[in-house]
Amino acid sequence: MSDKPDPSELHTDTLAIRWAQLRTDEMAHSDPIFLTSSFVYDSAAQAAARFSGEQPGNVYSRFTNPTVRAFEERLAAMEGGEKAVALASGMAAISSTFFALLAPGDHVVSSRSVFGTTNVIYNRYLKKFNIDTTLVDLADLDQWRAAMRPETKILFLESPSNPLSEIGDIEALARLAHDQGALLVVDNCFCTPALQKPIELGADLVIHSATKYLDGQGRCLGGAVVGPATLTDEVLGFVRSAGPSMSPFNAWVFLKGLETLGLRMKAHSENTLLLARWLEQQPGIARVHYSGLESHPQHQLAARQQSGFGAVIAIEVEDSDGHRDRQAAWRFMDGTRLISITANLGDVKSTITHPGSTTHGRVDPEEKERAGITENLIRLAIGLEHVEDLKTDLSRGLKALGF
Ligand SMILES: *Cc1c(COP(=O)(O)O)cnc(C)c1O
Repeated sequence: MSDKPDPSELHTDTLAIRWAQLRTDEMAHSDPIFLTSSFVYDSAAQAAARFSGEQPGNVYSRFTNPTVRAFEERLAAMEGGEKAVALASGMAAISSTFFALLAPGDHVVSSRSVFGTTNVIYNRYLKKFNIDTTLVDLADLDQWRAAMRPETKILFLESPSNPLSEIGDIEALARLAHDQGALLVVDNCFCTPALQKPIELGADLVIHSATKYLDGQGRCLGGAVVGPATLTDEVLGFVRSAGPSMSPFNAWVFLKGLETLGLRMKAHSENTLLLARWLEQQPGIARVHYSGLESHPQHQLAARQQSGFGAVIAIEVEDSDGHRDRQAAWRFMDGTRLISITANLGDVKSTITHPGSTTHGRVDPEEKERAGITENLIRLAIGLEHVEDLKTDLSRGLKALGF
């Protein structure tokens, strides 16, 4: 389109459908997939110019592919970032960002409530390169401040956190990072740009596991890093050499996923709020953790920096004899018939997980307690089934607890 509007003139829902559409001479209305590893040139001279970067254009799908580029440009526009780099998975996005931007002796401050595998990167791999990480409570600004060192280069968080729905104050943490020349990196997997735009709040880089809501139907693994070209080009340089690239087929699935992202996130959030309010009223539910509830200690902050509350709830269950233990949690889960027992989330299908014995199963007990992962805690990632059917299914869980 020659008269392309500026992305800032369009709403996120429109960008998700219209931005960076791929048009070839065939004029397909749906984006085509360029399922090719390499590209041909008119001449030897052109090949040389493309490889050296003198002439822009496709070289090799490890770092240049039209379908992958369309996904990158669309996601960057939606997040309000200058550029995006697509990667093979969310973990490829997280690890590539660290490896591209950090050097031995650097220091990272991170929320302790991050995706479990991110902690493995800190403890096993960054440590090996003499990069230290300090873990802090997401919601406690004083802890972040106290953890800062002169060599701190990155502050890293997810908000809302998994599974307890704690909220990080992105604006305040961006100021803290920038006062010291550090970067704020936000994993925006749980909200997506449909509900939260960390870059507008001051974050430098946004990370995605596209595997979750960007796909939305549990089909493909993918990830992305969004931000200013000065930073994303460093990540792209790492990807070009190290090779954790996104497949063009997956990029095409994510392009299709983005088109319905706004609608899905709205429907996910609506279903989840209805269920969270309902769960709060049920016997057998000792506590509901969800930032959309007025009872959540950071509800106001969540309402300020998000336009919806997302689809992940954590509940603490109690059986009719007053036991709040692993057995009660497992009985509740095994009582359901519709909701899938799996650790995945971000799917149209609702899922139920016992973090203490799965996603956080290898976390040592002390750290688990500090992170609030109690034995009677259950995580629900609410999908798009009819809310009444989900209530019926959760009622089966309550029945298994003796209610
Ligand atoms: C799943 C997840 C990741 C990792 O993504 P993969 O695509 O599975 O590698 C990172 N961060 C968050 C918040 C996640 O939920």
